[in-house]
Amino acid sequence: MAEMRHCWRCRADYPPETVVCVRCGINLLTGEEIPKQEPEEAPLTPWEKVGATVADLTPGLLRPIVWIPALLLGAGGWGVIVMGGMLIQAGVILSGVPVAALGLILYAQAVVWTITGQFWLMHTALVEFEGCHWTIFAVAVFSPGIALILALKILAGMHPH
Ligand SMILES: [Zn+2]
Repeated sequence: MAEMRHCWRCRADYPPETVVCVRCGINLLTGEEIPKQEPEEAPLTPWEKVGATVADLTPGLLRPIVWIPALLLGAGGWGVIVMGGMLIQAGVILSGVPVAALGLILYAQAVVWTITGQFWLMHTALVEFEGCHWTIFAVAVFSPGIALILALKILAGMHPH
């Protein structure tokens, strides 16, 4: 049986072919201490910073399995919103408003998927949201909504009934 190798500092036993004591960082052959290397953190490139921020704020954007369905649902939601808008423009306001609201809910659900990176239903996600998620959600959902309302107003102004 081959002799074990011992660390002279912590007296740990190692198989004879072992060179370094993993507890002390000592070269068992020479007795030399191996200077502990601090893992060097390379400064992030701007793109890596963007990636880290995206991964933090909207992880869904980095997961095609999430953002592709979210994109489809969001586009579908906007289709429904436009349908609602057309109904409102046509004067069928009582039908148009709930249709547009439904479209906005579909789009908001798509935003939730993108923000959380998971297929959470909206009411689940809104419970789990952290501070900045609320901001992103509010901006993503309401700014296009406001833009749409403004656009409709301008269109209505250009073609007065
Ligand atoms: Zn040791």
